[in-house]
Amino acid sequence: MKKKILIIGSGLAGSLLGNELGKNHDVTLLEKGPHNSITYPQLHFHHKKFAEVHTCCYGGGGSTNLWHNGLIPIRTDDVVGSEFREVLGQAQSYIDQTAAALFYTGASFSEDHRQLVNNANSLLPTTYSPSSSPSQGIDCLVYPKKFRRLTLSAAVKAIFDVEAIDFVYRDGRISKVNYRVAGAQHALEPDVVIVAAGTLGTPGVIQKVVRAAGMSDESVGVGFIDHPMGFVGKVKVKKELSSVIKKLSAWDRGDYVSRNAVRLKSACGKYTACAFFRPALTMDNRLSIYKYKSSLGASNGMARIRNIFSWKIFHPDMIAEIFAHLFGVNIPSRIYNILLITEQKRGGSRVYEEDGAIQVKWTVTDDELATYRAMLKDLEGMLGDIADAININTNITSDWLWSAAHHSGTISLGSGEDDLVDTNLKLNCCDNVYVCDGSVLQEHSYANTGLAIGQLAFRLADHLNNKILPRAEHAEIAEKT
Ligand SMILES: Cc1cc2nc3c(=O)[nH]c(=O)nc-3n(C[C@H](O)[C@H](O)[C@H](O)COP(=O)(O)OP(=O)(O)OC[C@H]3O[C@@H](n4cnc5c(N)ncnc54)[C@H](O)[C@@H]3O)c2cc1C
Repeated sequence: MKKKILIIGSGLAGSLLGNELGKNHDVTLLEKGPHNSITYPQLHFHHKKFAEVHTCCYGGGGSTNLWHNGLIPIRTDDVVGSEFREVLGQAQSYIDQTAAALFYTGASFSEDHRQLVNNANSLLPTTYSPSSSPSQGIDCLVYPKKFRRLTLSAAVKAIFDVEAIDFVYRDGRISKVNYRVAGAQHALEPDVVIVAAGTLGTPGVIQKVVRAAGMSDESVGVGFIDHPMGFVGKVKVKKELSSVIKKLSAWDRGDYVSRNAVRLKSACGKYTACAFFRPALTMDNRLSIYKYKSSLGASNGMARIRNIFSWKIFHPDMIAEIFAHLFGVNIPSRIYNILLITEQKRGGSRVYEEDGAIQVKWTVTDDELATYRAMLKDLEGMLGDIADAININTNITSDWLWSAAHHSGTISLGSGEDDLVDTNLKLNCCDNVYVCDGSVLQEHSYANTGLAIGQLAFRLADHLNNKILPRAEHAEIAEKT
């Protein structure tokens, strides 16, 4: 018998889950945003702002409306916490399925990526001293050339512009979900609820579930992490290495482009960061130009047009960036911008809903800054042998870093007393509620989060299929196949 599954949120995780579970079950999806366009949530920043541009949105497809579809796995050996490492380890078997759903056209992403990383790591001639070879190696971020926002299959009953979702809790389960559309009140009685409202949206939904269960919601949303990132300097590489570094910067591989980064580890081994090389024309190392470049690159539509009307667009580095991105032409130069992507660990940063708005308490701590500065000194040392000139700010402040839009960590996972979900992503206080989206990523090194979120979505779909299908039905399916 088909089960009634309710998914909240039609972003990356919600779409993949809906399409997968819709093959066997009766799936309804409630989305706060519109069907074929997007709106932006009201974010109230208490401390640090994410960025000058939008880093999430409401609407069908969620953040895949804004993203660049760059695919890179989170390496399990970069994950410090044992429980999340195990969850991620189990999710590795879903990489190929996820990459295919995220527009990677090769036969096996995992195998292609392994080979790509090997090739990228053998680009630097062996004549260079060990100090110039990155001890942590090089990792590769794969950008399929063709991609689009995710959409839902016809099997999913999707309802958009949904307001005022609320829950009725009975006997350890959510028995009823109320919601409003265009002023009319509706209700559903699902067997299973999956919350996939994104790292910023899910805390508000889970706050309501937890309150319906008569429990305190004060730990919901605590542990928010991001990838603080920024341009931190310039390097002019030696002439004989210019073609190697050009490939590291952007390597055209036919159906995709690989952007490749030097991996960096903190002295304590807990933090992993990475540095990408982006074409530039001058050795000028100025924060105002970097901020402008970032907002131009991340914006679209009217926001991008507004950004274009600035004198900063005439800076030679901006001209190089525009040629590289808009026309796919790299201006020949041996100078590169260094784009640092850093890691945060879950701590006191929090996202929660209050007064109808999403409240964001995000900070980059002094300890994190000290760690990043030490990593930059390591990078400076590494580049010494391969560069004619280096101009890195190894003393960056929080101002130099902004959100890479890889929001994660607002729902704690594990077997601890205060943890909100277990390793199957089931809410501890509720027998039929699961959470699956960026919020359950407990660590993310420097890796873009989309691939890992998708892997967790396919893992959860398998878990639910195995757990909620009656045994007899399993046997019947097995017999037929
Ligand atoms: C500009 C930009 C570029 C990026 N580039 C990359 C990249 O190249 N590679 C990569 O891996 N990642 C990238 N990311 C990050 C990636 O897009 C996100 O990690 C990913 O899409 C998050 O998926 P999600 O399912 O957690 O949330 P989302 O995709 O954000 O989905 C959440 C959904 O829930 C809905 N929702 C929210 N609240 C509610 C509510 N109360 N009720 C009902 N529905 C609700 C939202 O409208 C949305 O549809 C980028 C992000 C941005 C902003």
